[in-house]
Amino acid sequence: MANPDDYYKVLGVDRKASQDEIKKAYRKLARKYHPDHNKEAGAEDRFKRISEAYDTLSDADKRAQYDRGGSVFGAGNPFGGGAGGGGPAGGDFGPFSDILSGIFGNAGGAPRDPRTRPQAERGADLETTVSLAFDQAIAGAQVPVTVATHAACKTCRGTGAKPGTSPIVCPECSGRGVESQGQGLFSISRPCPRCSGAGTVIENPCPTCSGAGRLREVKKYRVNIPAGVRDGSRIRLAGKGEAGVRGGPAGDLFVVCSVPESPIFRRRGDNLEVEIPITVAEALTGAEVEVPTLHGTKKLRVPAGTKHGTVQRLRGEGPPKLDGSGDGDIHYRFVIEMPKDLNAEQKRAVEELSKVMNGNPREDVLRQAAAMRKAA
Ligand SMILES: [Zn+2]
Ligand SMILES: [Zn+2]
Repeated sequence: MANPDDYYKVLGVDRKASQDEIKKAYRKLARKYHPDHNKEAGAEDRFKRISEAYDTLSDADKRAQYDRGGSVFGAGNPFGGGAGGGGPAGGDFGPFSDILSGIFGNAGGAPRDPRTRPQAERGADLETTVSLAFDQAIAGAQVPVTVATHAACKTCRGTGAKPGTSPIVCPECSGRGVESQGQGLFSISRPCPRCSGAGTVIENPCPTCSGAGRLREVKKYRVNIPAGVRDGSRIRLAGKGEAGVRGGPAGDLFVVCSVPESPIFRRRGDNLEVEIPITVAEALTGAEVEVPTLHGTKKLRVPAGTKHGTVQRLRGEGPPKLDGSGDGDIHYRFVIEMPKDLNAEQKRAVEELSKVMNGNPREDVLRQAAAMRKAA
């Protein structure tokens, strides 16, 4: 029956395809139709169907069930042939989800069946926070970072087996990692209780790590914090996370920067902003004022008639941009200081000022408002 939604058709594989063939077909199609890369109409739907098909066909149980529903024939060996017992050196690393995430970030969304085979597992990512002073964040710094992690045991090189011995194929499940109960149509699979699905067991555990293959360890790194980081910036140290399991690659360590606000320089994206108080007189007549920069001071020209809140910027005086495209700017926001009370001399001066600056600046507004009332 040519059902276009047939999962085997979706992946373009034979009904007797091995897990490897299914995996390969999925990888190829997922790359081709991944919505991040393929903007053609329908690519996303196609990608969803491919993922759905793979979800089912890569899972021995789901596949068997699907086969029963879709066809009387051909459940075959749900475990895809007798490649079991690979052990840590078996080479069946790099489950495609890792390959996909390498290409697409974490978008693969492809399930991995933990029961099918001893799998090398990537170690978990770790995250730690470093506190930086504001100027350290601006200039960059080398800071010590301490993380509690699991590291591969050196005695057994992560295998968990006593040196000179190797893990053996699990005698309970013959390396399949699953145990089947019942027969034929009604068989049920669950992870092998002896090896917990690993497919191998360690008869002579490593004395250092008691067979775990990993040890708790406190690691210290000196981390180079690039100039220009902000509060919350994350720095990735590839491979410095938890050690992998059964020879899998280590995870990554993410260092998150905690940067306090500076009382003077405020972050505005790639730039900094500083409030510069000016007097009423400076705003009126203009002035040259000294302003702080990250490295000292500079002179800025305040034009006569500067309004409250006017911003002037010095290009390239800000912190380095994290994308490497040069330095940001510093924005100087002029704030006209309004004295709360005036002494006698100031009062006299202001009275003089109001005499010469006569005229009612509200005339226009009042006239317009009156005209609107009339029209209404
Ligand atoms: Zn087993
Ligand atoms: Zn060990």
